Amino acid sequence: MDWERNGPVWLFEAPFRRLIEASREIAAGHPRLNLRPLHTAFHLGEDFIHLLSGLREIYEPFAWRLSRGGDRIGHALALGVSPSAWSERNPWIRMRPWDRILDIGFVYWFFDKFGLRLDAGEVERMRLDARRVIENLFGTQEPDPLETARNIWCALPQARWEDAKNGSEHEARVNRARSFVARILDERAVGRRALSSSLSIQTKLELPMLEAVHDFVHDRIAKARVAIEVNPSSNLLVGGFRSIFEQPVFHTDKLPIILNADDPLTFGTTLADDYAYAWAGMVLGSGQSPDQATRRLEEAARCSLRYTFTSSLERRTLQAHGDLREDAATEAGAARRRGP
Ligand SMILES: [Zn+2]
Repeated sequence: MDWERNGPVWLFEAPFRRLIEASREIAAGHPRLNLRPLHTAFHLGEDFIHLLSGLREIYEPFAWRLSRGGDRIGHALALGVSPSAWSERNPWIRMRPWDRILDIGFVYWFFDKFGLRLDAGEVERMRLDARRVIENLFGTQEPDPLETARNIWCALPQARWEDAKNGSEHEARVNRARSFVARILDERAVGRRALSSSLSIQTKLELPMLEAVHDFVHDRIAKARVAIEVNPSSNLLVGGFRSIFEQPVFHTDKLPIILNADDPLTFGTTLADDYAYAWAGMVLGSGQSPDQATRRLEEAARCSLRYTFTSSLERRTLQAHGDLREDAATEAGAARRRGP
């Protein structure tokens, strides 16, 4: 698995879940050790082809209960991009039929379960698209291709999840959807067709649907009380931005934001460097005043403390010493001194 698109969360969902559940059991079984169950930080939604795939990937750990309050999501660039700006920059894209089925299944699940606002024309277009892709990949004609796409997306995780219902009809649908997933993994010719970028999409036609999904995912992530880890230098390299100033996070502030150096060895950076880049990005790129930028970085540092994964004892010690606050203030101050 060389990059995120080839190693999606659903492939690793079962071992992740076992780890998280085991850590909860251990913490509950040894109260005197004051252990915190494992928290997760999924790095997602940074190198998507279709914005919809990026939003879906960000949402999946929530739908599958791998992420919960107090956890972190890294990058999440799909959340910070405005759908209209994205569509203008990417009027036509070529994507993989497999991602298209999952994206349509995800949108239809939102539409069906939460009443996502889509007009009849949009739903019809998705239905035609799903029919075409499913027929092309699996050679079957589905009576309701939207439902089939939804069932395939819902059948990805091994665990039964919030949508799971008892009953033989439901079991039969899940088993049938799982057989499609198995064919992607086991049949070489099907897998190859599914993962070749052969599908052309005109993104402008989907703009209203994209906007509705974007708002919905943003809203639900905000309610879930997870922090977004912003990795300024790593985002610049993997996110396809022309400059550090372009990163959407410097222009929006609706979600709890923390700064992170991602993988310091790979990206040749440190946390202090990334604070400095963020400060410069805000002041030079989005016209905020130096004081505004410093305040936002101080808020990010406080947020890091709230979303730290250390034990409550260590957290209290850090708060008592004010370590992170002082560090952040120093780093932001250093950035200001290095600034223009
Ligand atoms: Zn990352």
